[in-house]
Amino acid sequence: MTRLPDFAFDNSYHRELSGAYAQWQGDKVPAPQMLKLNVALAEELGLDPDALAGDAGALVLSGMRAPAGAAPLAMAYAGHQFGGFSPQLGDGRALLVGELIDRFGKRRDLHLKGSGRTPFSRGGDGKAALGPVLREYLVGEAMYALGVPTTRALAAVTTGEKIHRESGAKDGAVLARVASSHLRVGSFQFFAARGDTAMLQKLADYAIARHDPDLVGRDGRYLDVLKRVAERQASLVAQWVNLGFVHGVMNTDNMTISGETIDYGPCAFLDSYSPQASFSSIDQQGRYAYGNQPNIAAWNLARLAECLLGLISPEDDTAIKQATEVINAVPALYQAQWLKGLRQKLGLLREKDGDLALASGFLMTMQGQNVDYTNAFRALSDVLLGDPSPLRALYDDPAKELDAWLAAYAARSGAERASPEARAAAMQAVNPLYIPRNHKVEEALQAAEAGDMASFERLLSILQSPFTPQKGAAAYASGAPDSFGPYKTFCGT
Ligand code: AMP
Ligand code: MG
Repeated sequence: MTRLPDFAFDNSYHRELSGAYAQWQGDKVPAPQMLKLNVALAEELGLDPDALAGDAGALVLSGMRAPAGAAPLAMAYAGHQFGGFSPQLGDGRALLVGELIDRFGKRRDLHLKGSGRTPFSRGGDGKAALGPVLREYLVGEAMYALGVPTTRALAAVTTGEKIHRESGAKDGAVLARVASSHLRVGSFQFFAARGDTAMLQKLADYAIARHDPDLVGRDGRYLDVLKRVAERQASLVAQWVNLGFVHGVMNTDNMTISGETIDYGPCAFLDSYSPQASFSSIDQQGRYAYGNQPNIAAWNLARLAECLLGLISPEDDTAIKQATEVINAVPALYQAQWLKGLRQKLGLLREKDGDLALASGFLMTMQGQNVDYTNAFRALSDVLLGDPSPLRALYDDPAKELDAWLAAYAARSGAERASPEARAAAMQAVNPLYIPRNHKVEEALQAAEAGDMASFERLLSILQSPFTPQKGAAAYASGAPDSFGPYKTFCGT
């Protein structure tokens, strides 16, 4: 038998939370092959990239063979999907292989997506198609490079199997991903829906030990953990919004306790600025539209709060009052994070009253003007350096609203102590030149599906340095051509 790579697993979820998962194995697949390995991440995890790169790595990261020390399992969770509650979802096509302690001493989940049916599969085939696997790889790694908390892609493995989707037969693949955990709001909902307070408490204490160890054993920790998750999610969604990212499927089972972005299914980035922007074919009401993400985050956090009530206080009234205070504070938490990000994007290094109005004013100038959101912010550093023409050129009709705003911006800039050069440099470190442009992502995925990984590799390499101008990369720094048409995304299933 092939010698499998070594992993120093330490499987705390398996050890401590029986009742929250089903032990399981991946499917046998005809021809597992390593398509793309994230060498830097493998090294960060203390793994041997050479051992993973070959056939033995493909056997393990397709889920076909469990290496020594692994305790593969499908996690149980519930969730609100588009507002409707399912008391049992769970990993229907995924496995938690085990946990690793990385080079920085951080515990990370090694998880496979597309490894076959599990007891939670319901009607699904348990598989993943190559296109969605590579989309998650690409966009997740881009988010990481942009500084956004996210799960990471360790590998994409092809299975040699054809799988069936509405659009036809597709090549099967498995994504190996790494997360600081896979605990989600839906993990709590699973036990809350069953009225299982003992498991809820176990899960909450487990989550605290993993993500908020300073709260371990403290009185009031269940209220505090709610606050922490709220803070992390407020900060995460503010980063999404400031980058023009639309997650597309913010169901409660896709909202982590860690504050990492998870599940890049029907996600997309804005080209032109529009709060109503919504790309997912299944989100017809725009529930998960770009500008609605903060509201949905607050709604999801309220669902988490409901699960924790019995742990927060034995007195219903007290628990409700305390949890409600936390939830009511979410919009302000979000707004503070959003404004903090916008100040950086605008090169406002000091804080002044009126910054919120100034920032909102800039967004207002873009409304209905077909202005590229990413490039407009990038062009602001040129404004500071004395050249407003790149910004003006982005507007269909650079009307007096833009002039008025530029005058207000110039006046506000007068209150800054740093030099325009220093401010422009700071802005260029937060306003990307390169984001995963929808049409470029589609182009790369289509080529990959046809067997050519060159576009994927080129795009990935550009996205790994999103703030630095790169030779010959101009085509990666603008929105889709009209011929691309209105963009629609489909769930990764
Ligand atoms: P997602 O929208 O990818 O977060 O998935 C929502 C739920 O559907 C989770 O319980 C998944 O495990 C499950 N699921 C998605 N795709 C499949 C599939 N092809 N087979 C089985 N279960 C799936
Ligand atoms: Mg999911």
